[in-house]
Amino acid sequence: MVQTQLEAAREGTITDAMNRVAVRENREPEFVREQVAEGQAVIPANTTHDALDPMIIGREFATKVNANIGNSETTSDLEGELEKLHTAVHYGADTVMDLGTGSDLDKIRETHIEHSPVPIGTVPLYEAVKQAGSPEAITTALLLEIIDKQAEQGVDYMTIHAGILAEHLPLTDGRKTGIVSRGGSIMATWMEAHGEQNPLFQVYDEICEIFAAHDVTFSLGDSLRPGCLADACDEAQYAELDTLGELTRRAWDHGVQVMVEGPGHVPMDKVAENVERQQAVCDGAPFYVLGPLVTDVAPSYDHITSAIGAAMAAQAGAAMLCYVTPKEHLGLPDENDVRDGLAAYRIAAHAGDVGNGRPSARDWDDALSEARYAFDWREQFRLALDPDRAREYHDQTLPEDNYKDARFCSMCGVEFCSMRIDQDARDRAGGEMDRLESGIDLESSPAAEVNRPPVGTHESATLPSDEEWTDRSVEEVGDD
Ligand code: SF4
Repeated sequence: MVQTQLEAAREGTITDAMNRVAVRENREPEFVREQVAEGQAVIPANTTHDALDPMIIGREFATKVNANIGNSETTSDLEGELEKLHTAVHYGADTVMDLGTGSDLDKIRETHIEHSPVPIGTVPLYEAVKQAGSPEAITTALLLEIIDKQAEQGVDYMTIHAGILAEHLPLTDGRKTGIVSRGGSIMATWMEAHGEQNPLFQVYDEICEIFAAHDVTFSLGDSLRPGCLADACDEAQYAELDTLGELTRRAWDHGVQVMVEGPGHVPMDKVAENVERQQAVCDGAPFYVLGPLVTDVAPSYDHITSAIGAAMAAQAGAAMLCYVTPKEHLGLPDENDVRDGLAAYRIAAHAGDVGNGRPSARDWDDALSEARYAFDWREQFRLALDPDRAREYHDQTLPEDNYKDARFCSMCGVEFCSMRIDQDARDRAGGEMDRLESGIDLESSPAAEVNRPPVGTHESATLPSDEEWTDRSVEEVGDD
């Protein structure tokens, strides 16, 4: 009989996975257990995923990043798919979703799970559509069969689009971009065609039982997420969110771990509101957000538009960020897009962690800053979020090895390197900069010519006299 991480945590057991997570997060195992027991964090770890290095997703832990991979009808080979997994993990993905819709889905999924140290997520609905031939042809039995098969294969978490209900569909009528979630559009099509309620909602308890038998974690799909700023925070989005809150509690009743997916496209002034609302409606279940994109106007730069929203969401309490690549809305990402998307999202996640004061998060920034000020270029590259690119950019203009010890780079050049100038000044001053003291002769300073008013087009009549200015400067900096 399988015991889920949630069930173990509730009865007071600290599992091996919890101990491992505690080490990785620099937290006490008991704190990890409490967070899992209360549903505030999840450890997606299918009991048959032997290659997994357990990790945790929750707002009290380091913000995580997911990368999507997967084949399509046009690109599909096992080696290529393994390469994508390797690329995603190499550039820092904490989890990987296999969203393949091409051929050999079972073989590719099993190979991914066999090799992946990070949790693998899927959307079983995609395989159902592929097998059935169209959204309308899906049956409830087929859905359950595929979910059960993927759970047995070792999938750690699955996106289940059970929250979109028939009564929500009319709420999307006035939208600018309708239903943009793939799973949402499939379920809406099915409900329209059959005139019945969402089958995933109807057999939700059976899905919970399958998940409990393998410790698969729910990622409750946000089928009605906004696809543009104009649709953000509308009635349809929040009606589905209410249903996701109910489904969260039902999964917990079955001892199954849950996280909840979120938008989408959201203006900056509504990002925190989205996170806070999800946390309230879903009783603190981890929020897993796609971006959100904070503007719609930058196709080919949507890793940036969305990383801005992702950083804000992370600071507001989102637990995992699903990356967006520069190819979003435009095409299937290649390896470079995956790299750029992951870099953008690791920045967002880390910035959120620093802003939230996560234990040790700032240490990384401080270590890199110290290496930078010491002109320790090799250490700076080693500590960089993307070491290869940092070195590559440096070497574009100063490739020779002796420049790895240089006290400048090509940005300001040797003469104007501010850090070198500053260090030399401190050296001359015997370590610390002297403070301005009363009686200092500003007139004899070379800076006096350029740094004292009036400057530019200001009227000298509105500015302090030279004497007043000198007195003020001394008062302001002299007694600090
Ligand atoms: S030259 Fe400019 S950018 Fe380069 S190390 Fe010096 S201060 Fe920094």
